Amino acid sequence: MRTPLIAGNWKMNTTVDEALELVRAMKDELEKIAEVEKVVCPPFVSLAPVKELLSGSAIKLGAQNLFFAEKGAYTGEISPLMVADLCEYVIIGHSERRQYFHETGDVVNKKIVAALQADIIPIMCIGESLEENEREKTKSVVSEQVRAALAGVKSVSGLVIAYEPVWAIGTGKSATGEQAGETIAFIRHNIADLYGEGTAREMRILYGGSVSSANAAEFMQQPEIDGALVGGASLKAGEFINIVSQASAIKSRK
Ligand code: PEP
Repeated sequence: MRTPLIAGNWKMNTTVDEALELVRAMKDELEKIAEVEKVVCPPFVSLAPVKELLSGSAIKLGAQNLFFAEKGAYTGEISPLMVADLCEYVIIGHSERRQYFHETGDVVNKKIVAALQADIIPIMCIGESLEENEREKTKSVVSEQVRAALAGVKSVSGLVIAYEPVWAIGTGKSATGEQAGETIAFIRHNIADLYGEGTAREMRILYGGSVSSANAAEFMQQPEIDGALVGGASLKAGEFINIVSQASAIKSRK
């Protein structure tokens, strides 16, 4: 039985005060919702104060990125050791990082290795572009991304994958539950090929891309989908609580 996971990717939004306000607005309601792991991923500057606010809470903290070196002359970067002090999770390989910061499969792979070594759980993002989708390349693209990101990685225990079709991120245009479920089943087959059936069965694979309270149920009803990585809707306390609550109700029925 895989524990459903709903993670909020706040991206480059919220000042420290706004981040604290947002956490205060959702904390108590999220605490009441059982059987779903809840993660918030604010910007780096808010991680320490948010961690303090969440002390003793079941809500977990994630970073949105890290650099793969341990320390040194990498101005502006944040190392796995720094993240590990504060967070249980880290988003790696988000399509916005691939697109705007030119993160290649090789860089994503180094970051995955570094996160695992530092005992941080990667939420590893993969997904096809609109053009790849239209050319029916989704399966070959996600397969290649999985292989590149996990090259040389011996154990993926705990690692989470987020399948996020690039054309669905921040566009208001989501995949259908069925499309996402089918691609996620395919990703799980890839994991089985690489790491065996047992690992594939245990791995949580999320959907991400314009998830909101209006469409969350469609994704949560898919048995292959273990939760969601939520961008825009995670910045509204009521929306995020609603999505988590739907995940709990639907997944605990199964
Ligand atoms: C994301 O940032 O990972 C994401 C899925 O964003 P949105 O929900 O806004 O599409």
